[in-house]
Parts: sequence; C-alpha cells; structure tokens
Amino acid sequence: MIESKSALRVILMGPPGSGKGTQGEILSSLWHIPRIAPGDIFRTEIKAQTELGLQVKAFSDSGTLVPDEIVTAMMRSRLSQPDTKLGWLLDGFPRTVGQAESLDTLLAELTQAYDYVINLEVPDQILIDRLKIRAEIDGRTDDSEDVIKNRLQEYYAKTKPLLDFYGQKVIVIDGTLTLEEVTKDIQDKLSSI
Ligand code: AMP
Repeated sequence: MIESKSALRVILMGPPGSGKGTQGEILSSLWHIPRIAPGDIFRTEIKAQTELGLQVKAFSDSGTLVPDEIVTAMMRSRLSQPDTKLGWLLDGFPRTVGQAESLDTLLAELTQAYDYVINLEVPDQILIDRLKIRAEIDGRTDDSEDVIKNRLQEYYAKTKPLLDFYGQKVIVIDGTLTLEEVTKDIQDKLSSI
C-alpha cells in the first residue's frame, strides 16, 4: 500500500464514464493529496458566473474540449498553490498532447515530476450506458445523448493519442470491475512498481 510520506504525483486518465472522477476522489483521500479536476473547477466557475466560467460554458455544455491556452493557464495557477507541495492527483488533465507538453514545461519550472500515469480502460458500449445512467441520476447538462457522443468523439480524437505520448509509462487498469476492485487494483499495481 502506498503511503504518501514523500510527494506523490499521479496523472489519472480514462474516457468519460470510466469511473475516473470517483476513483480520483477515493485515491486522493487515501493518499492525502489534492484531486485537481478541471471539469469540476469549470463547473464551479460556470455556476458562479465568473469570467473564466463565461469563457468555458459553451464548450463544457456541448462536450467540446476547452481550448488548451485556457486550461493550461488555469492549471498553471492551480499547480502553483501551496497545497500541491506534497503532491497531487490530476483527474482530467492533460487531455491533449499540447496540454501534456505544457504540463512537462510547467513541472520543469516547478522542479517537480509525475510519478505515475494510470489509464482506466472501459469499452465504448459500457461507457455510453454508464453516462446515460449518470445523466438520469445527476442531471449533468453535458450528459445528454448528443453531448455524450461528442464527448466520446473528443476523447478518441484528442485525448486517446496521449496514451502514445506517455507510452510505456502508462499503467493500464480494467475499469469494468467494481469500484472497490478498481481501487485495489490501482493500489496493488502501484506498490508493485
Ligand atoms: P469532465 O468533468 O472532466 O468530464 O469535464 C467536463 C468538461 O470540461 C469537458 O467536456 C470539457 O468541456 C471541459 N474540460 C475538462 N477538462 C478539460 C481539459 N483538460 N481540456 C479541455 N477541456 C476540459
């Protein structure tokens, strides 16, 4: 089991509906590191009708990725906050190769490095079913059928290529297992490295 006495920096990846957000919350609390999720930050900003919220609302509502410059500037400021000194879990960033390159630059500036890249794998049809159920339960505005399709298209076009960017560093996890099994699998795989 990982004990985060020293800094622990994790990038958690996976398509929409892979359980990334839920695992991110569980792991960040187990490892005592902040979970940094741009999607959540954007939803908060949209609700508060801030300048950033207004800039990103149309993208988020339609399931289209927010332009790299906006996301990267926001992450630069977030990763410079004092609570990130002992690590972080990135949930939903980077989502494009451009963002991954910006993250490398930013981490070099901060003299930090990521320790693990985790990818939750779930087949398409299971993702669509899960997202539809979530739409009914949470009422998220970006979980309607058209928007779900667009989010998956965005994922395959822009985010999936990141798996090649990170290559051998990616730790693949079967995201179809139960919540508890996925958490355990992640912990087991990380402690065996
Ligand atoms: P999520 O909650 O992670 O599914 O994100 C919700 C929405 O926020 C996405 O559909 C995008 O519009 C936007 N978003 C979140 N993270 C990113 C990112 N790294 N790059 C671009 N857009 C993002």
